[in-house]
Amino acid sequence: MRNVTCALALTMTAAAIAVHADGKRWWSHVEALANDGMEGRNTGSAGHKRAAEYVAAHFKDAGLEPAGTSGYIQPIKFKTRRIDESQSGLALVRDGKTEPLTLGEDANISMRVDSAPSLEAPLVFVGYGLNIPERNINDFQGLNLKGAVVMYVSSTPPSLPGPLQAHFGSAAERWKMYKAAGAVGTISVANPKSMDIPWSRSTLSRLQPSMSLADASLDESVDQQLAVTLNPAHADKLLAGSGHTFAELLALVDAGKPVPAFALPARIKATVRVERGEVESQNVVGILRGSDPKRRDEFVVLSAHLDHLGIADPPINGDRVYNGAMDNASGVAAILEVATRLHEAGTKPARSLLFVAVTGEEKGELGSRYFAAHPTVPSSAIVANVNTDMFLPLFPLKTLMVLGLDESDLGQDIRTVAKEAGVAVQADPEPQRNRFVRSDQYSFIREGIPALAMKVGYVPDSPEAQIARKWTAERYHAVSDDLNQPIDISAGDKYVDIVRALAVHIANRPDRPKWNDTSFFKRFAKAATH
Ligand SMILES: [Zn+2]
Repeated sequence: MRNVTCALALTMTAAAIAVHADGKRWWSHVEALANDGMEGRNTGSAGHKRAAEYVAAHFKDAGLEPAGTSGYIQPIKFKTRRIDESQSGLALVRDGKTEPLTLGEDANISMRVDSAPSLEAPLVFVGYGLNIPERNINDFQGLNLKGAVVMYVSSTPPSLPGPLQAHFGSAAERWKMYKAAGAVGTISVANPKSMDIPWSRSTLSRLQPSMSLADASLDESVDQQLAVTLNPAHADKLLAGSGHTFAELLALVDAGKPVPAFALPARIKATVRVERGEVESQNVVGILRGSDPKRRDEFVVLSAHLDHLGIADPPINGDRVYNGAMDNASGVAAILEVATRLHEAGTKPARSLLFVAVTGEEKGELGSRYFAAHPTVPSSAIVANVNTDMFLPLFPLKTLMVLGLDESDLGQDIRTVAKEAGVAVQADPEPQRNRFVRSDQYSFIREGIPALAMKVGYVPDSPEAQIARKWTAERYHAVSDDLNQPIDISAGDKYVDIVRALAVHIANRPDRPKWNDTSFFKRFAKAATH
């Protein structure tokens, strides 16, 4: 760590003194998981394995029963793909002329999908790129997508409610739509206004290996031959000759207006050379056994992802470790501390609590997806999931932001618990950032399990909102998400206590949690088990 300043260190010390001992213990877990020795906890790395062993040891200390497939550990096999850029290329073919695109600057070839070695295909711009018959949305109308690569703006129209924006805007749901229309690949362009991190930073990770689950039944990009991410600043290269500019199309997106879709007068040509490999990584699972003779065989899952981005190569400003202190050592530390507090208090909820630290979140929520598909307890016995990912205790916890608040009657549970804790509750004020599907709760939701995820919330346009925005712009997925940043340990302490109280509250409910009738996600609930 090079970017320590005295001012930051002082803030931290002052905050630490004001906080009670349990808050410090939460922070000590963050320190253990996010120090340089854990090497950024990349999925499949030795650092991640050490972090998993740390979690397992503390699960044991907290009296949890081992519930992996090998002690507390559930090992998972992944396929890795890394692009060999020197042997790969992208180009536009227009009027018989080939115009190369520069990888890293104009566009990147995503290793999220298993690319074809070479491809040449017509290009079609499809606007928001959505086909959702139940909402009367069809951006493909009148277009021939057979054999085409579709270019879309990765935004969703504001007419869709937040959770649906998140669901239908996901890469997996989009690919279902494009594949059904006959397309062979995708080019996504972010709306610069909703980019969490600038292109200059996100492009740095393009040479890192991408991963997918070795379990082929969980592959969500079957038949996709190409996935390209386009730098929005260079999007006009593809739109040239179409009579449209990207600025004009973005203005329509920003105004929430319909966006035109049209064939582009160019073809895309791709050559992709991939280095393939295999790694194993770990979920960590433990049970606090419930006390009610009937309900103890049902489980409330408390989850948090353990993995982060690993090592920065080359180092950034002299720093080589993506420590991931907030993303998500803080969340794993929270569930460890929940387990410890329950153990110390001798709490025995009616249902059992299943503590799950998952791997592979940064690779596309893969560890949770694997766990939800292959749980180490009977699938039908999981009644709820409460996930913690990057809950950002940057200022005092007065408002709790709850993703999925209005989707199931877990919303009522968290309202009750928050009221007792004296904090307000809010739904996601920025649904366009798709946070509801951007973490591990979504893996459970897709298996029909009602779920919530929580963060420290803030009032829009407040000083806190500004702190949160600044954090995202400067530290999110940056090497500066480390142990030398100003954190409000009292907020971490309070958050842990809310998760503890919520878990107990859900575990003691007489009935199983239910999706609201109005929830889109109710459709995933399995009729046989509910
Ligand atoms: Zn992350």
